[in-house]
This record gives sequence, C-alpha cells and structure tokens, in this order.
Amino acid sequence: MTITVEQGSATVTTHFINGEWTDAESPTFAVTNPFNGEVVAEAAAGGRREAEAAVAAAAAAYPAWAALAPGERQRLFLKAADIVDRRHEELVELMAVEGGASRAFSSFQIRLSSAMLRQAAGWGYLPAGDVIRSDIPGRTATVTRKPLGVVAGFTPWNGAFYLAWRTFLLPLAFGNTTVIKPSELAPMSAGLVHAEILEEAGFPAGTFNVVTHAPGEAAAISDVFFESPAVRCINFTGSDKTARILGAQAGRALKRMVLELGGFNPVILLDDADIDESIKAVTFGAFLHQGQVCMNSRKIYVDRSIHDEFVAGLTARVKSLKIGDPRDPEVIIGPLINERAVQQIDERVQDALNRGATLETGGHSDGLIYEPTILTHVPADAICTTGADETFGPLLVIEAFDDVETAFRAAQDTPYGLSASIMTRDRSRGLDLAERFDTGIVHINAPTMASEAALPVGGVKDSGWGRSGLYAIEDFTELRLTTVSSKPGRYPF
Ligand code: ADP
Repeated sequence: MTITVEQGSATVTTHFINGEWTDAESPTFAVTNPFNGEVVAEAAAGGRREAEAAVAAAAAAYPAWAALAPGERQRLFLKAADIVDRRHEELVELMAVEGGASRAFSSFQIRLSSAMLRQAAGWGYLPAGDVIRSDIPGRTATVTRKPLGVVAGFTPWNGAFYLAWRTFLLPLAFGNTTVIKPSELAPMSAGLVHAEILEEAGFPAGTFNVVTHAPGEAAAISDVFFESPAVRCINFTGSDKTARILGAQAGRALKRMVLELGGFNPVILLDDADIDESIKAVTFGAFLHQGQVCMNSRKIYVDRSIHDEFVAGLTARVKSLKIGDPRDPEVIIGPLINERAVQQIDERVQDALNRGATLETGGHSDGLIYEPTILTHVPADAICTTGADETFGPLLVIEAFDDVETAFRAAQDTPYGLSASIMTRDRSRGLDLAERFDTGIVHINAPTMASEAALPVGGVKDSGWGRSGLYAIEDFTELRLTTVSSKPGRYPF
C-alpha cells in the first residue's frame, strides 16, 4: 500500500498488523480535509479484535527484536530516515490535506523526524549497564538496562507526523515492540504512513503495528492495551482531560504511563529584550500550525516600557501572515482541525471582548480558518487569560507589567508546566528567572516552540511526564540487577 492523496479520489486505508495490511472486515470512516471538507480517505474502523491481534503480533516479535544486534537495528533506522527524506514532498501534501498543516510546519516535522531516526540509530550501542561493588566477598553485581516489552502508543493529530515517531520510535530504539492507535482525525499522518516507511525499510513483522478506529471508538482499543499483560507501558500524547481517564485505568491495571499533554507556555519580555527578535520569536511560537501545538505560546508578559512598540510590531507581522489553503506553500495560517476547535476559540475571544478586552487583530472565522488573533487589556477573569485551560488555536494574550516578580508569579500560576521563554539581552537576568520556572523546558531568547530531535522535551505538573530524545531511555527501559557469588554464603540461620 502507498498512501498517495489526490483531492477527490479518496485513499482507502487498512490496519497494519504483523507486517500485513489488513482490514479484518472492518467498516470504514471518512477522514476529511479540514480546509474544504473533501473526503481524503476512507479509513478502517477497528476495535477490540484488531487491537488484540496487534498486541499479540507485537508480543511475538518482541524477543527477536530485543535481541537484534545493534548494527542491524542501526541499518534499519538509517534506511527509514532516508525514506522519510525521499518522501518529503508527499508527506508535505499528506499533512496539508489531512491535518491542515502549512509547508512551514510539515517541513519542520519531517526534518525533525529524520534527524531523530538518525540519532536513535546509534542507541543500540549505548553501554548496557554498570557493575556495582558488593560488600559480600566473592559477589559480583551488575545492573543491565532491558526493554520493557510491548509499548502501546496514542498518537495525536496535531504535530501528527513527528509526534507519532516520537511515540513509537523511542520505545523501538530501546528494544521494545509497539502498537499504535493514531488519532481518528489523522490516521495516515499519525501512524499509517510510518508503517509504510518502516515496512519499506525492512523492519521485522510485528515490531510496529497500527490499528485505526472511528471517532468515539477509541476506548475499545485502549481497553485492550490496559488489559493485556504483554503491554508494559502506555505512551499517550493528547489532552490532560483524556489522560486523567486513562491514568485511572493505568492505576487499576498497574501500567506505566508516559504522558505528553498540554501547556500554557508563557513568554516574559524584559525591558532590555531585542524587540525585533522578540516579534519574530513570538509570531512563530504562538502561531505555528494555527496555535494547535502543545508548546505554542498562549500569553506574553511585556515590560510596560516596551509594550506599545512590541504590540504594534507584532500586530503588523501577524497581519502579514498569509491565510488559506495550506497546499499553497506561501500559506502560514491554514484551517483548524474541526468545528469544535473554531467554536472554542471564538467563544473565548467573545468572552474576553465582552469583558472589555482590546482586539488588536483577528477575531473572525471563515469556514474552519480562524484569523490569528491578538488581545490586549484582557480582564483577569477572562477564560483565555487565566492559564487554567489552554485555548488550542491562534489566540494570543498580551499583558503589560511594571514589576517582573509579579509577572513571573502570574506566568507560573497555571496547572501546566511544559515550556516558557524569557527574552532579554542580559544572560544572568534570564538565567535567574529560568532557574525558578516550574516547567520542563525554558528557553532564553527563543520561542516556546524550539524543538530539536536531541533535546529532551517534556513537561511537569499537568503537562505530563517523560522526555523525548535519548533521555527517554528512563521511560522505555527497566533496570535488571544480576548477582553472581563465587564463595559460600554466610547466613544467620
Ligand atoms: P485531542 O482533542 O487533541 O484529540 P484527546 O485527549 O481528546 O486529544 O484525545 C487524544 C487521543 O485519546 C485520541 O486519539 C482519542 O482517540 C483518544 N481518546 C479520547 N478519549 C478516550 C477515552 N475515553 N478512552 C480512550 N481513548 C480516548
């Protein structure tokens, strides 16, 4: 199977289980282009039976994959990276029609993905453990890192292509096998296209399985993940609301979870910030992918002495962003994922305006496109400014401050703890604030969205736990203690 997406002639997709493209008599559901509503695919609507087959395939493939020589694994990962690069243009097209991603965003994801594949290719050669000194004469103790077994992953629709790699590639690189349940909103760019790439690269059957499902039918598949003894970890990327439901299930099943959830991601502009650089960084950080990424900035705190100049410059830059069909390479702002997303942002903008906020730009929608919107003078009780819940769209709140410490406390007053940025020419002032931020990530003089394949991205508090990159070794391996005694033991009885 090859996923090629032509407008007007929908692809029919199947599950990928045990190295086979199989629909297992599943009914199908429509995947639509959020820009124009056209059906881009009829995807297989799987459930319990397919999930059970996928988990069984991953469990059967596990021993051989875990034991595979590091050089063999490396060869497969490097080949997959080359395939990703070769398919660049097709992937851009797929992400545009299935998820509304601009070329800027899809190319960013593709580059990150092949970089991560190339880095992960070498991880099989990392030291496998340590030798520990024992107090018992004649005893040798070793600690070895072992894979967990089967890791089940929920992959999201937003940064679908990159975040799907992140969900299953890290477990695979450490010797686990995987089952993926892509978001029903983007089953191709959140999993099926990866199956094509890994199949072509020659990954053994069963190491990577994908089961797709219709809207509202996720639980039949995720129940199988929690019930199966072979599944040792659930790797979830999505909302904290769903994570709480799944976390309760994980508690009952005593399963390890890795969670990549939302964020509020404040930026603080100190009085010595480079204003032009800050305008560029904030435009990118707030509006990449129409504000539908967990690391997008939602609120900017600006020293009052530079507030007006910053707001004027930012507004002008944001107004210049081209809006429209993301298949046009010049377009930066495409559609939101669905009507619900448009409603949410619109309600929150209207709520703020009704309370007296100032609309600097935006505030209108056309179909699923919502104009990039900037609000200032937002009263503290408006939903979009409280930090209690992220508005997953192109809405940015800007607030002037007179005192950095007050602004810093306000920026911290959110249940989320993913990313934050500080813009300043004074490194030590930046580092002083950075050290105190209760987030998984802090950037000085860069946007809150500043991913690189090697950086350990992840959150604290309601943004989840677990890290990407090499540090994911903590999430996807266990330590095994082995002792060998060469002298008779001394026992108290
Ligand atoms: P988003 O709104 O970004 O899709 P969600 O947290 O709602 O984020 O969903 C993330 C993933 O979790 C999706 O793939 C969805 O299919 C799945 N999901 C949502 N609700 C449930 C549930 N009750 N049980 C299992 N999976 C769910």
